[in-house]
Amino acid sequence: MERTFVALKPDAVRRGLIGRIIKRFENRGYKIIGMKMLHPTIEMAKKHYAEHEGKYFYDRLIRYLTSGPIIAMVLQGEDAVHGVRQLMGSTKPGEAEPGTLRADFAQIQEFNIVHGSDSVESAKREIDIYFKPEELCTDWKTITEIVMESEKAAI
Ligand code: UDP
Ligand code: MG
Repeated sequence: MERTFVALKPDAVRRGLIGRIIKRFENRGYKIIGMKMLHPTIEMAKKHYAEHEGKYFYDRLIRYLTSGPIIAMVLQGEDAVHGVRQLMGSTKPGEAEPGTLRADFAQIQEFNIVHGSDSVESAKREIDIYFKPEELCTDWKTITEIVMESEKAAI
């Protein structure tokens, strides 16, 4: 099963959207194996967005991510990296498909409410920035996992 890192960005917290966003991930059946609220430090934000250093939007991005608390999450499931990006929609809300989080809850690229890793490698790197291994809760099964296992066993 694949793991991905998700962050509900500071404006999602300020706008009271946490529950509605998490619900979409739960609806898909992803297993939440890590979740916490934290106010990212500048050091964390710079590590997180290292790939964008030097780009025109970098300084604003770091200021934005450190402007208030975020909800950091680790989700696990089948093809979770791609699936979460699909639920999020395109980086620019105006190009995101209606029904995706960024289309439904955002207007502009800078404040697109949610982050999701873009590859399995990025996910590993990002999870390490925000979580210690012992903070992940892996010793339980979602109802989706139980159903999928029994379906596979029955066929
Ligand atoms: N961003 C921005 N202006 C841009 C491109 C990106 O403000 O021209 C911000 C936006 O918040 C985006 C984040 O930087 O979510 C990271 O950009 P990336 O291209 O990695 O998009 P994502 O992976 O979040 O879809
Ligand atoms: Mg990205």
